[in-house]
Amino acid sequence: MHLDLKKIIIIVVVAAGVTAAAFRVLPPPIPSIVTAALVDKSPDAGDELRAFAAMEPVDTHVHAFRSDPDFTNLLARLHLHLLDICVSDRHGIYSDLATELARANGFVHGSQGRAQLCVTFDPFDFQQKDFAPRIIKQLRRQFADGAVAVKIWKNIGMELTKPDGSYVMPDDPVFEPIYKAIAAENKTLVAHVAEPSSCWQAPNPDSPDYDYYKENPQWYMYLHPDHPRKEVILAARDHLLAENPKLRVVGAHLGSMETDVDEIARRFDQYPNFAVDTAARMEYLMIAPREKVRNFLIKYQDRVLYGTDLEFLSDESTAEALKDWQETYARDWKFLATDQALDYKGRKIEGLNLPAPVLRRIFHDNAVRWIPGIAPPAK
Ligand SMILES: [Zn+2]
Repeated sequence: MHLDLKKIIIIVVVAAGVTAAAFRVLPPPIPSIVTAALVDKSPDAGDELRAFAAMEPVDTHVHAFRSDPDFTNLLARLHLHLLDICVSDRHGIYSDLATELARANGFVHGSQGRAQLCVTFDPFDFQQKDFAPRIIKQLRRQFADGAVAVKIWKNIGMELTKPDGSYVMPDDPVFEPIYKAIAAENKTLVAHVAEPSSCWQAPNPDSPDYDYYKENPQWYMYLHPDHPRKEVILAARDHLLAENPKLRVVGAHLGSMETDVDEIARRFDQYPNFAVDTAARMEYLMIAPREKVRNFLIKYQDRVLYGTDLEFLSDESTAEALKDWQETYARDWKFLATDQALDYKGRKIEGLNLPAPVLRRIFHDNAVRWIPGIAPPAK
């Protein structure tokens, strides 16, 4: 009897310890401003956008290169802050870099404080003698003008080559001084490194990226087996993370580990300076096993930033963009915040119904912490 009681006490004490440890892993819950909005499960998109707006949401991954007061009004109405990301692309998706930068600057300056700039640099000049010092000087000027982040793109690892034909990887020593300078200025690196795994696989109409590779065969590595494998490029990215522990790195597009959240979790455990955005990869979270994704987002609720990859370009009508942006935000809200059913390519998806404090981190807090300066008080 006496022994049994002792046993019970030990079990209770151990259990309490385990519970306390588990609570330490998860940050303490924060008071939510959206509980009321979440109670309303009405399928009206207006309700979804109202609940979304109540988060003071930050979209950390957009490409906006045009200004229009109607568009700025949308940002105000949704209480939305944006990170407007420049891309250095020799194929010219967004025009040449100088033009693109000027347009992005125009958008940011006309946004009434709702958009901040993520600049980039042309990596193709990497062999010039003054490459790193010149880029660092340029970045410092742009930081002084308000830029809050710097983007590197998939052309590093997949396109850029040395005279001997080998590919330049994101951890190439030539970029090291630039990474150190970004960290020293307390800015963030947004790293779009590699591509979804489907880029290296045979065409599959069920893949979320099927249309992209059909339209962009130059980036479809299945057709270019002589180019580096995905594993090689991601290993170089991981090496960059290890070499620069003081540099905050946000891996764009789920860090190109879109098919298995365990792969992302492994990097989070290993590299405290690493977070990811969800840009253009929400579909992958939708088609993955629901409970696994839900548990991942709850466990790593301070490491995932909301981003979309939405575009606002000079050749597109404002009305169309407004529709597209609002539909995307309503859909993403429905998926992350409610238990409603969504349809994706004929598949029925059940919303994740994440707790309000987790939503608040994904839609707002993480952006502010990982990309300081991204959401200053609106003017
Ligand atoms: Zn993008």
